[in-house]
Amino acid sequence: MKIANVIVDVPASSINQTFDYLIPDKYLDILQIGMRVTVPFGPRKIMGFVVGKAAQSEFKKLREIDQVLDLTPVLTTELLNLGKWVAKNTVSFYITALQAMLPQVLKAQYKKELVRDTEEQLSEELEHLFAGRDVIGYEEFEGSTISYYQLQKAVQDGDIVIKYLVHSKITKKYVTMVQPAKEPHLMEEAFQDLSKQAVKQRELLAYFIEKPEPVEKKLLLKKYQTTSSTIKTLVDKALLETNQVEVYRDPHEKQQFSKTTALDLTEEQERAIAPMKEKIANNEHEVFLLHGVTGSGKTEVYLQAIQDVIHKGQEAIVLVPEIALTPQMVNRFKGRFGSKVAVMHSALSAGEKYDEWRRIHQKEVKVVVGARSAIFAPFENIGIIIIDEEHEGTYKQEDQPRYHARDVAIERGKTHQCPVVLGSATPTLETFARAEKGVYQLATLSKRTNEKDMPKVDIVDMRAELHAGNRTMFSRVLMEKMEQCLEKGEQIVLLLNRRGYSTFVMCRDCGHVKECPHCDIALTYHKNTNHLKCHYCSYEEPMPTVCPECESDLIRYFGTGTQRVEEALTKLLPEAGIIRMDVDTTRRKGSHEKLLRKFANKEASILLGTQMIAKGLDFENVTLVGVLTADSMLHLPDFRSSEKTFQLLTQVSGRAGRHELSGEVIVQTYTPDHYSIELASQYDFEGFYKKEMATRRTFQYPPYFFLALITVSHPNKVSAAQTTSHIVKDLLHNVRTNTVVLGPSPSPIPRIKDRYRYQCMIKYKNEPHLREIISSIMDHFKEETQKGELLITVDMQPHHLM
Ligand code: ADP
Ligand code: ZN
Ligand code: ZN
Repeated sequence: MKIANVIVDVPASSINQTFDYLIPDKYLDILQIGMRVTVPFGPRKIMGFVVGKAAQSEFKKLREIDQVLDLTPVLTTELLNLGKWVAKNTVSFYITALQAMLPQVLKAQYKKELVRDTEEQLSEELEHLFAGRDVIGYEEFEGSTISYYQLQKAVQDGDIVIKYLVHSKITKKYVTMVQPAKEPHLMEEAFQDLSKQAVKQRELLAYFIEKPEPVEKKLLLKKYQTTSSTIKTLVDKALLETNQVEVYRDPHEKQQFSKTTALDLTEEQERAIAPMKEKIANNEHEVFLLHGVTGSGKTEVYLQAIQDVIHKGQEAIVLVPEIALTPQMVNRFKGRFGSKVAVMHSALSAGEKYDEWRRIHQKEVKVVVGARSAIFAPFENIGIIIIDEEHEGTYKQEDQPRYHARDVAIERGKTHQCPVVLGSATPTLETFARAEKGVYQLATLSKRTNEKDMPKVDIVDMRAELHAGNRTMFSRVLMEKMEQCLEKGEQIVLLLNRRGYSTFVMCRDCGHVKECPHCDIALTYHKNTNHLKCHYCSYEEPMPTVCPECESDLIRYFGTGTQRVEEALTKLLPEAGIIRMDVDTTRRKGSHEKLLRKFANKEASILLGTQMIAKGLDFENVTLVGVLTADSMLHLPDFRSSEKTFQLLTQVSGRAGRHELSGEVIVQTYTPDHYSIELASQYDFEGFYKKEMATRRTFQYPPYFFLALITVSHPNKVSAAQTTSHIVKDLLHNVRTNTVVLGPSPSPIPRIKDRYRYQCMIKYKNEPHLREIISSIMDHFKEETQKGELLITVDMQPHHLM
């Protein structure tokens, strides 16, 4: 087989196909399907994946593969097929789908190093190449006469590891090691010479005489209850040496995990887990919906199901929303399964992500806990896939390929013949409807494990507050409860639902609102820099002192940002410490965790934040939850806004009274009668489900109809509109009569980065060929899109309609 079929890194529809290349002799023995290569493509050299091998090609003049980048395949056959499925399903390019499965590091070419990873003898040639060193550059190997096959074998045997030199902003982590500077007999002489009063110095020397090897300084100091100065004295006497050693990038390694064991399950949990265990034992696929309120013991069910899977020698994927990947959540998995767990989330540096990926790839771990993209973990024997908080929007990727992790999970579950468990207190309507129809198997946990009721929710009508003369953003009852809480030394969580409610600048005289000059959206005021910023294109300008329209100086910022709430709170409750958590205070790596730790340590009484505080947090001292603006999401142009409001309110309410102390929730709103707010306050999921389903049916939205959103953007407004209108006409020619095609209409944000945006929405019940129809329409505009002016994006089952 001298020919490789390569899919190249050129995302364009005409080349959503493979190209044939000759395999140079030196690579013949080692090249496998799923490896990355570089190949000549036109005048350039580009990266690609080998997706097949063949003995001959129908093309005559083939060019040769330039370089093989991997010695073991980075994609399994299963993932290559899954990539095809993702590409087809989301109407994206195969190459884009494949790249979405790999960590960033493998999408580019990095300098490589070979690291010796064994004490044993390597082959003679390899020993010669390493020449006593532990690390050598990859190019040294390439310049030698050693075959790729030989190196590949050493890598497969685990004797040599390939390391990528990833430039990362995160500084490497070092620890200080201490070791003896002299031979043991000289150390003993020194010991005899030391004065008897130098107790600590004598202890340290005695330690190293006994054990003459490097030890971490921190451990040493702890063991002998002494300080750095003792070590320094011995270093100055040339008896000890210290040096800095880089530690392996494992962000979770250093924490202590108290080992946990399986709890005795409640009757409800038993009933929920039994059919899952059966499917695991029989290697059968099934989708389960585990519907249970916060604190009902869903996570314990996951843990015990995974235990079975590990017992069988299989692997588990657990997806949790990015924001819920807190140390609290991760610790529960590490506590049960120890070092068998890899963690993947976006706060890791590129290097750390690659390290975790490699641990999965090398089968060093059995469980991966991660955000959306962890669904592509390169396991080969999956026994269960779990998606916690399955209703979360973050499972939908908002970039090409626009996949939903739930769909991918079910696809992999079928391939691996294993159960997929979707867990939530507030499942999506789509999922719950499927469970009702019996497509998914429903398991319900109706009680909290501590037998406590969910906290009582009070709805406060903010219009009435205004009429009563209260102009602050805190209702009287909320103020009163907060004061009581502080008196008792208990803690408070305040949620500011900020989406669509940011601080914009308006002129009080003429009503002029300052908008971004490149995007049709109001600029956001940032107090610390006194600047206005655009959240879409990063445009920035100083806060004007007079209105650009009417020159009035009554230009002010409006809305309720977290900063403003914090200011107001500080004035009203000066003695309460406040921790603010929003995009601004959590931008730096690790700051999210740091703030939460501070709150857990009771360094502040109030945790104030946006959506990001609603999930997964569990603080025993929190007895009051306040929602400042429950309805700010209700008015967005999004058919899911009621559902999202219901989910958020239910979720944040679950933060209060999880432990001994009982909790209370105050929800402030201008629309107290809205069913999503009312039913959330009664924890009435089924009631909400029925009501919302009726609305969806009336307006032809999911789960009654599927959606596809096509967005067209162009620097020229007329071109954008004309292209969209052309697409609408083409669609109407090709789809069934009960399919609805809406548009062309301007997108809810009609201009972003100086590009005009129009959209077309398709609502359909059954369109088996819709993806092909859309693809061929896209093909029609190929030339224009390749020039770069015209951009057409397709979003199957969109989550945001912006
Ligand atoms: P959820 O994931 O549904 O929010 P958890 O699994 O976190 O629920 O459970 C809530 C609390 O109840 C946790 O502190 C957990 O340790 C405890 N718990 C879960 N199952 C049991 C059980 N069978 N017996 C006792 N405590 C349990
Ligand atoms: Zn004005
Ligand atoms: Zn902008």
